[in-house]
Amino acid sequence: MKHGKRIVIENEALKRLRNSLRKVFYLYSDDITLPALKEIVEANDVDKQFEIIAKISDILSRSICLCPLCYKIDSDMRYDKLEDSWYCLSCFEIILKYRKLKHSKEINIASF
Ligand SMILES: [Zn+2]
Repeated sequence: MKHGKRIVIENEALKRLRNSLRKVFYLYSDDITLPALKEIVEANDVDKQFEIIAKISDILSRSICLCPLCYKIDSDMRYDKLEDSWYCLSCFEIILKYRKLKHSKEINIASF
């Protein structure tokens, strides 16, 4: 397990359960975000508003409930140690290819 933990669910009933729980978590994040934002908007504190939005967005993007690149909530996920975040398997493969390409270009540049 070189790049981090991978969680794949084969059973369709368990997949539906997982996806439903993710949706509940995602909807709950709206339930806690909106009242907080409403209070801040009423207090006219724009800096605090952006701080809370960024904090909740960061929590969601690092959770296993949502791929931060494609925003899918119904995919098997893989943990990325470097980013301390979970990605769907498709996006994770793209990230690995990007890192390999970036690493090979860095080696080519360093050899000159
Ligand atoms: Zn994705």
